[in-house]
Amino acid sequence: MEGVERKRTVVIVGGGIAGALLAKSIDHMAHAVLIDPKEYFEIPWANLRSRVEPSFAERSVIGHREYLKNGRLIISTAVGVTDKGVVTAEGRVVGFDYLVIATGHPYNSIRGRRDRLEKFQEDNQKIKCSDSIMIVGGGATGVELAGEIAMDFPEKKVTLVHNGPRLLQFIGQKAGGRALEWLKSKNVRVLLEQSIDAASVSESDREFLTSAGETVTADCYFLCVGKPVGSGWLRESALKEYLDRKGRLMVDENFRVGGLHNIFAIGDITDVPELKQGMVARRHALVVAKSLKLLLKGEADCKLCRYRPSLQAQAWVSLGRKDAVVQYSFLTVSGFVPGMFRSRDLFVGKMRKSLGLEC
Ligand SMILES: Cc1cc2nc3c(=O)[nH]c(=O)nc-3n(C[C@H](O)[C@H](O)[C@H](O)COP(=O)(O)OP(=O)(O)OC[C@H]3O[C@@H](n4cnc5c(N)ncnc54)[C@H](O)[C@@H]3O)c2cc1C
Repeated sequence: MEGVERKRTVVIVGGGIAGALLAKSIDHMAHAVLIDPKEYFEIPWANLRSRVEPSFAERSVIGHREYLKNGRLIISTAVGVTDKGVVTAEGRVVGFDYLVIATGHPYNSIRGRRDRLEKFQEDNQKIKCSDSIMIVGGGATGVELAGEIAMDFPEKKVTLVHNGPRLLQFIGQKAGGRALEWLKSKNVRVLLEQSIDAASVSESDREFLTSAGETVTADCYFLCVGKPVGSGWLRESALKEYLDRKGRLMVDENFRVGGLHNIFAIGDITDVPELKQGMVARRHALVVAKSLKLLLKGEADCKLCRYRPSLQAQAWVSLGRKDAVVQYSFLTVSGFVPGMFRSRDLFVGKMRKSLGLEC
């Protein structure tokens, strides 16, 4: 119709930290379409607290509809991109003016929010009914889960098995050392440089043999090993040539994929050389939201916002409800001071506020 301007369509694939924040930011200025296999957004690091305190998930698992007021929501998995649009698992083709890919990691396959909350209840029962618990993986997930269980259930025998020489290998040695000391002070048994063959264990097992021949006895276990990057769906797509060896999408300083003028990628899926973190994914989303705003107003590509990765990496790891270890550049601080900022609420209020929701 003449005189009526069509709102341009921005398709966002992936409703994690980056995708959800971007969808919220552009909801009022474009026709936003969010494609995610789940009806909800979840804060990945809050999931560990939700296992020991299931009601915590009421605030950290947020229905996409709670913050996306105008945009369209497609609950499905993207399986490809063609020149016509994004293809979903049901074979639907969703056309776009702009596409933003934010499929950091495929976290879980539970579709509904209620079912997700029930899963936390189940995990909590599993912990409560077990005298001994094995956690496999000494990255942030394994360390935080061990901390949560050790703090809330001090009577449980917790063993953490990690295949590397130290905990928290993604940050400095000092931070890993502090986490190790803290866990040991809470009677967590930590086995370093040993692994468990995840493919060979089953829920009914009670004894687990490590690669070093040690036996771990546990009534239940949790696998906290790294998740693959969520780019498998792009491997046969028109964008496959822009995937690097690690499966990450190569982007320029404007987050455009391969310099294509209307396709962006943000969050953990990008090859930006920096720590993959929620707070970083959030920054990516804000930069691309600004750029889209300009493009939608008809500004030239040269006006797009540029992103520079932060050279001062900042990483927070909770140690139970009160303590934490934080590394800021070369400085490592642990104890209750960083714990006050990180461990009580796990930044859930901050994230909810960013989505325009009550803290
Ligand atoms: C235990 C743990 C603790 C962490 N602690 C911290 C912390 O303290 N601070 C911090 O800043 N960061 C932390 N992180 C890292 C942070 O969670 C990630 O960097 C962040 O979630 C990345 O955001 P993202 O939006 O790029 O991807 P994700 O949050 O992984 O979201 C990806 C979304 O894409 C969807 N998706 C995947 N594939 C498809 C597909 N084919 N089609 C449609 N949708 C798809 C997924 O369902 C998901 O909703 C932690 C991570 C974990 C696991």
